Amino acid sequence: MFTGSDFTSPEAAFAVGIVRDAAQLAQRIQTGMAVMGLAKSDLSPVTVADFALQALVAHALSEAFPEDALVAEETSAQLRTEPGRDVLDVVTRFLVPAMPGASSEVVCDWIDRGAAAPQARFWVLDPVDGTKGYLRGGQYAVALSLIEDGVVQLGVLGCPCLSLPGVNTTSGNGTLVAAARNRGAWWNRLGDQDFFTRLAVSDCRDISAARFLRSFEAGHTDGERLDRLAQRLHVEREPVRMDSQAKYAVLAAGSGELLFRLLSPVRPDYRERIWDQAAGALITEEAGGCITDLDGKPLDFTTGRTLTLNRGVLASNMHLHELALEALR
Ligand code: AMP
Ligand code: MG
Repeated sequence: MFTGSDFTSPEAAFAVGIVRDAAQLAQRIQTGMAVMGLAKSDLSPVTVADFALQALVAHALSEAFPEDALVAEETSAQLRTEPGRDVLDVVTRFLVPAMPGASSEVVCDWIDRGAAAPQARFWVLDPVDGTKGYLRGGQYAVALSLIEDGVVQLGVLGCPCLSLPGVNTTSGNGTLVAAARNRGAWWNRLGDQDFFTRLAVSDCRDISAARFLRSFEAGHTDGERLDRLAQRLHVEREPVRMDSQAKYAVLAAGSGELLFRLLSPVRPDYRERIWDQAAGALITEEAGGCITDLDGKPLDFTTGRTLTLNRGVLASNMHLHELALEALR
């Protein structure tokens, strides 16, 4: 059960429930169709699931907490164009069983509730974090968090292909991880309603025994520099490679120690999006880990939709953080 946790707060109960529903919808979409894609302006694939999950969560949030703003990754702009019409039809079809009032028009409006600007209190959603993993049959996560006065108070990750506490990089039974500030990080099986188990990072203090958690996509980091860092730190173990914030769940579960989000040489000016980090950051901290940017500064969630004051991310099991920062310097 939720011993010691704060999952009885209305916000936590809402977040856990809707992330579970959204993750299960993602699975139904994956099995229900050959995933249909459009190309966004940055050419990352965007799928029926991204739109459907964002509409589902935005609608549920407007019912549960009508005053609260939502900052989410997707917009309906492409769905409202002629080439997007087919995708919108499929999105709507998948939403109707859960939301009998769903029509193309209202689905677009629900999605666009995610265009709000960050406020004193707001929710952050990445409907499908790791879209490329989702398309490939790898890891992905539904990531929802609540930020109040710049502090992440709640973070929930629904990872339909992840198995904890062990790590299975491509397929598993599905895991839900949730953290509330000062109340710990907890996991359960995605289909399991009640039984949560507390997470704790690994106790590893010997860098040669540490495991890196790495992106699957080469373009999201600097692979060569990561290899050099691993060499310099005498890390001998094979890295765990997976898409999405599922990596933070694995770190929190003690099945990996170091996660560097280095800047890709192709995009040295890239700044992290808050929906790619907020839930995972709180889960890391509440499991006893540490998360900063590459300069050792705390992640600053007061700067809008991107972490403009931070460069990259370093997450660790705490014990190895200083060594990792030193190696970066
Ligand atoms: P991962 O699966 O950990 O590799 O990260 C997935 C996330 O990386 C996606 O949600 C993207 O928003 C984000 N992303 C896209 N391009 C970059 C980039 N150049 N550097 C870092 N992250 C990126
Ligand atoms: Mg993402």
